Amino acid sequence: MRIAVCPGSFDPVTNGHIDIFERASTMFDLIIVAVFHNPNKKPLFSMEERAELLSISTRHITNIRIDAFSGLLNEYVKQQNSNIIVRGLRALSDFEYEFQRALLIKKIDPVIETVFMMTSSEYSFLSSSGIKELAKFGGPIKGLVPSCVETRIRQRMAEM
Ligand code: ADP
Repeated sequence: MRIAVCPGSFDPVTNGHIDIFERASTMFDLIIVAVFHNPNKKPLFSMEERAELLSISTRHITNIRIDAFSGLLNEYVKQQNSNIIVRGLRALSDFEYEFQRALLIKKIDPVIETVFMMTSSEYSFLSSSGIKELAKFGGPIKGLVPSCVETRIRQRMAEM
């Protein structure tokens, strides 16, 4: 069984992420979407909320599992009986960061392969931070995020 792990902050999940999951799900037997705790980022949503929004918005994908983790990614991937990390790649700006990260993981754990999927052109401008910024100023996020995210982010902004 070919298992791939899609790690990320997903704060919140966007249609760009969903597009990567849908496409990856046709290439692997099981996709594990792993919400991770990034100590460098202050999240808008808790890990539980992010995982819940991911679960709701990926219901149409049958071979997907949502999980959460903190710690070393290579160890997590092996615990899941996998050796594949799938990451989405947008413009040049992602490249430097992803390249460093993939090489670092390769260095500490050569069995792990990082696979990159090119974003679909309609989502190349889309990022979780862009969505948060738009929402903060009351901008339109319809069509950019799953509808459950749209609702939840509006609620969160109203609370703040
Ligand atoms: P991280 O904090 O690890 O960067 P993100 O939640 O921002 O996590 O992103 C998770 C993964 O999804 C990353 O590989 C990122 O490059 C990818 N990604 C984010 N937005 C898009 C998009 N619009 N199209 C394709 N891939 C994307």
